[in-house]
Amino acid sequence: METVERAGAARFAPIDPAGLGSQLHCFIRELYPICRSITGEGLRKTLRRIGARIPLAVTEVPTGTPVFDWTVPREWNIRDAYIKDSAGKTLVDFRCSNLHVVNYSVPVRERMPLAALKQHLFTLPDHPHWTPYLTSYYNDTWGFCLAHERLLEMKDAEYEVVIDSSLEDGALSYGECFLPGERSDEVLISAHTCHPSLCNDNLSGIAVAVFLAALLRGASLRYSYRFLFAPGTIGTITWLALHESRVSDIKGGFVLTCVGDRSPCTYKKSRLGNAEIDRAFEQVLRHAGLPYRIQEFSPSGFDERQFCSPGFDLPVGCFMRAGSGYAENHTSADDLDLVSPSALAESLLRCWTVIDLLENNRTYIGRVQKCEPQLSKRGLYRTLGGRAPTGEEENAMRWVLNFSDGENSLLDIAERSGISFEILRSAAEALLRSELLRAT
Ligand code: ZN
Repeated sequence: METVERAGAARFAPIDPAGLGSQLHCFIRELYPICRSITGEGLRKTLRRIGARIPLAVTEVPTGTPVFDWTVPREWNIRDAYIKDSAGKTLVDFRCSNLHVVNYSVPVRERMPLAALKQHLFTLPDHPHWTPYLTSYYNDTWGFCLAHERLLEMKDAEYEVVIDSSLEDGALSYGECFLPGERSDEVLISAHTCHPSLCNDNLSGIAVAVFLAALLRGASLRYSYRFLFAPGTIGTITWLALHESRVSDIKGGFVLTCVGDRSPCTYKKSRLGNAEIDRAFEQVLRHAGLPYRIQEFSPSGFDERQFCSPGFDLPVGCFMRAGSGYAENHTSADDLDLVSPSALAESLLRCWTVIDLLENNRTYIGRVQKCEPQLSKRGLYRTLGGRAPTGEEENAMRWVLNFSDGENSLLDIAERSGISFEILRSAAEALLRSELLRAT
């Protein structure tokens, strides 16, 4: 079993990723049925479920609030929707799957022939069993999504079409979990909360973020942590507009999305490309012993688009697995079977290890700068009897001693030496105990 401990004054208990995987999956199952959108009761209900697990401050931003080049939209709520044939048989039912209604559909209650109805029906002919997920946030229209095989069964007849929704002035909701540390510098972790019954995108990101916050809560933290649960794009734009004066506190962060599928862990760098968070993810993934991918920044993707817009240019990357590039994305096939407990647990462990690295990425000064200190008289060199350092540990100590000149952090030394951060940190702890190092 892989475990990780957090170094420093307050060591965390080891994480059991296997046990956490099933708990993560269980939380996804709890949130799965809720019909979320960029506003509305489904979003609020989701935030309440999150708030039952971690401290969460929910903000409601009124419809019409200007946020940079955008405006907070009207609030959308839906109670029911269906298509019935002339015999009264329900063919498409919102109560069976909230994906059946184009998200943000305006209300409709009409009878119409198939030819007219078809203008409002959306399917995936290449995947005839799957229902697509579509939205119409900024265009007043309506529609139904269904499996292509169901559409082929519909006869040329008249149908009853009902969408019992409302689109009215209200508010956009987002939630924040703030965990204060010794320093006001913040690490921002963001997960979008607007997708309805879709598991990987992005119930997986929500679940991993909630569990990370729960693990960090109550710990002795060097940095402060802010977990943001906001609807994609408009929610993040709104949050940035309301926090513009405070984003200078963000020392690093990442968007968490699509972290439950079975593809290798993938980190997309911030626009800056060489921020500490970018280097931390690269370091952790490189030494995790499993396939991984590092992507350069591009202006498509998830909410890193907003955090990395040129007016902010924050050190915020994106941690994912397949990203949006999997066939099931935005379809009914992004379901509970697509996300695996082991992938969720692995994703959580990688994020946890990155946070552990940030918390412990210190810069030291060796107390002996002229020639090497004598390790043997301090029990730090191979001896007969007793627990002696391995060759790898000795090598790590030499790297830490040589480069601890007040300029190089442990991450700098890890990158230069090729030795993992974890081994260098242990070496630094041994040298600190022997008073061969001091913190800057
Ligand atoms: Zn999406």
